[in-house]
Amino acid sequence: MTYLVTGGAGFIGSAVVRELVRTRSAYVVNVDKLTYASTLASVASVADDPNYHFEHADICDAATIRNIFEQYEPRYVLHLAAESHVDRSIDEPAAFVQTNVVGTAVLLAEAHRYWRSLAPERAARFRFLHVSTDEVFGSLGDGGFFTERSMYDPSSPYSASKAAADHFVRAWHRTYGLPVIVSNCCNNYGPYQFPDKLIPLMILNALEGKPLPVYGRGENVRDWLFVDDHATALLAILERGRVGHTYLVSAGAERQNIDVVHAICDMVDELCPVSTQPAGRSLVRFVADRPGHDLRYAIDASKLRNELGWLPAEGFDTGLRKTVQWYIENQAWCENVRSGRYRGERLGLGVGV
Ligand code: NAD
Repeated sequence: MTYLVTGGAGFIGSAVVRELVRTRSAYVVNVDKLTYASTLASVASVADDPNYHFEHADICDAATIRNIFEQYEPRYVLHLAAESHVDRSIDEPAAFVQTNVVGTAVLLAEAHRYWRSLAPERAARFRFLHVSTDEVFGSLGDGGFFTERSMYDPSSPYSASKAAADHFVRAWHRTYGLPVIVSNCCNNYGPYQFPDKLIPLMILNALEGKPLPVYGRGENVRDWLFVDDHATALLAILERGRVGHTYLVSAGAERQNIDVVHAICDMVDELCPVSTQPAGRSLVRFVADRPGHDLRYAIDASKLRNELGWLPAEGFDTGLRKTVQWYIENQAWCENVRSGRYRGERLGLGVGV
């Protein structure tokens, strides 16, 4: 049995790959283009496992993707490969259209070609899980939750590209019968996240005593999920979810951004007291808000809990503490991923678009 994971050298994909190799006696094929956001160091712990295989490939390259399907004959596809950073999508939207929309359509076409070639029993077991975001639903006000029936209303080029991909995935099911499932998850945090995202950027800046840039007044609310919990949710949805259905994923941990940043400051001060001068919270700087910044995301994940019995293992405070500790102990990983083009500067003001 083979699981094909796209984007397995990224933040969530590498957690999925590590979880699969640890818990399933199956082949795991990691297909990744190795963009700036990825590093094979994130899957180094499983790289020597005989069940693990890496394919350096772009999901937009149909011929290569076709060969990968023919070579590995997967039973399961977990599609995570994407351009994933909202701020970068404001500066460089074309790359998001290319990978997230065109790349997903190429992957669907090749999955469909392969699926049609399978014998009926194998075709019946095949599943394609498309991993998406709650950002496709746009912004909530102070109350309410996203559900599987929420309307699509994306605000950023990133969320618009993911919304388009979601529609293509459902279209391949309705038009061609491809057995797909879609998941939409809230914000993830945890080890191995590229430090252009809020939580790792704040941890590393706090450790280095650098300013902590908080957009607007820090009042935007995000719903946070520990990345390993997302990995177990995805495997439950892939293996036991209903074909053609959508599942929303969340642990129900809503926090204002400023509260997340303050919690990080306090943990850094406690766990690494000599690293910051002056201490944590005084490093916070309110900066110009992100254009089109959604106010609040929050998910009702009762379908996932009730149908598949999935529950998160980590609470936000314990998960955040583990994350801060991980970044303190893994400076070499951080140096490695930061040695490329990105050095912590402000992104997403749309300059040059
Ligand atoms: P990430 O940026 O850390 O990883 C993306 C991976 O995809 C990288 O390894 C990159 O090299 C690879 N990739 C990019 N373009 C590719 C291409 N053309 N071909 C092959 N590989 C390519 O992203 P992430 O945070 O791990 O997110 C993974 C998925 O989960 C994305 O689809 C994202 O939309 C979704 N998601 C993320 C979050 C979150 O909070 N991070 C929340 C919900 C959903």
